[in-house]
Amino acid sequence: MIAAETKAVATRGFATHGPEAKFEAFEFTRREVGANDILIDIEYCGICHSDIHMAKNEWAAFMPTVYPLVPGHEIVGRVSQVGDSVTKFKVGDAAGIGCFVDSCGECPSCAGGNEHYCFKQAAYTYGGTEMDRVTPTYGGYSNKYVIDEHYAHTIAAAGDLSGVAPLLCAGITTYSPLRRFNVGPGQKVGIVGLGGLGHMGVKIARAMGAEVTVFSTSPAKEADARALGADNFVVTTDPENLTPLAGTFNLILDTVSADHDINPLLGCLSINGVLAVVGLPHSPANIHHAALIMGNKTLAGSLIGGIPETQEMLDFCAEHNITADIEVITPGQIEEAYDRTVKSDVRYRFVIDMR
Ligand SMILES: [Zn+2]
Ligand SMILES: [Zn+2]
Repeated sequence: MIAAETKAVATRGFATHGPEAKFEAFEFTRREVGANDILIDIEYCGICHSDIHMAKNEWAAFMPTVYPLVPGHEIVGRVSQVGDSVTKFKVGDAAGIGCFVDSCGECPSCAGGNEHYCFKQAAYTYGGTEMDRVTPTYGGYSNKYVIDEHYAHTIAAAGDLSGVAPLLCAGITTYSPLRRFNVGPGQKVGIVGLGGLGHMGVKIARAMGAEVTVFSTSPAKEADARALGADNFVVTTDPENLTPLAGTFNLILDTVSADHDINPLLGCLSINGVLAVVGLPHSPANIHHAALIMGNKTLAGSLIGGIPETQEMLDFCAEHNITADIEVITPGQIEEAYDRTVKSDVRYRFVIDMR
């Protein structure tokens, strides 16, 4: 008898084996390329702060890390193989993968293009399982990914893909609430925090035509904020600076994940204004209902975006020549990049060269 030919895809990645462990080379296999699948040769993968939380098991309370962990959900590369039924991609196309790689495809969320809110829970790109709830998912700190074409994105941007990678998480995280609340010309938008998320928020809100103000605790970031396209900059450590801004913003996008008081931000909203939060501080917010009632204000949350909206974001960014400001590193520099990301010492995203 001849043994069945195995077509599983041999993959080289970088894994951490514990909260304190360093990243090491890690070999594993991806599934055989099925009829609806594409194989992506990964070129670049962004380092998202979630990667660090997961690598160090800092979300143990609600999402305990299973090791070995291969993080990475800001993935771009080139298609090197397509299944027989694939229509969206051909070999050689640029392709991207974001925070999830599969979902049930049938529930109301999936039917509405909100696969990230799949009733059966989407399969996260790393640190989770495939929809069989058995097979572990390994992320983009690796050289190959096999994915159903529905969950992969086309990339219209020409040339080098490194600055596109962070769009797959940081880009959609900021684009989705800006789009949902109809940001456009004539509107005043505040972006709180100028990090990986905030710098994308500035670029996207500006491209949507809004007047953009950056709220930051760090006066040193003013020059950068303006270079990224911000019209105004306000240092929030002195409450006096916010007084003249009371009642003026249509939308404030709060990207800060350190504990902070959101009441001064609510005070800066115009009537019918929206404070959208995408950062995840440790402590609960303490607000008085009057801060919302007086002025019909909305406090909203937002989590990444579904497949259709993520594609819309990538197309929008390609059309407006928007990429992330990045620092490219090698896999050997992951620990150093993690340390610097935790210290906010990066402008504004690390991207690992996986070629
Ligand atoms: Zn992320
Ligand atoms: Zn579903």
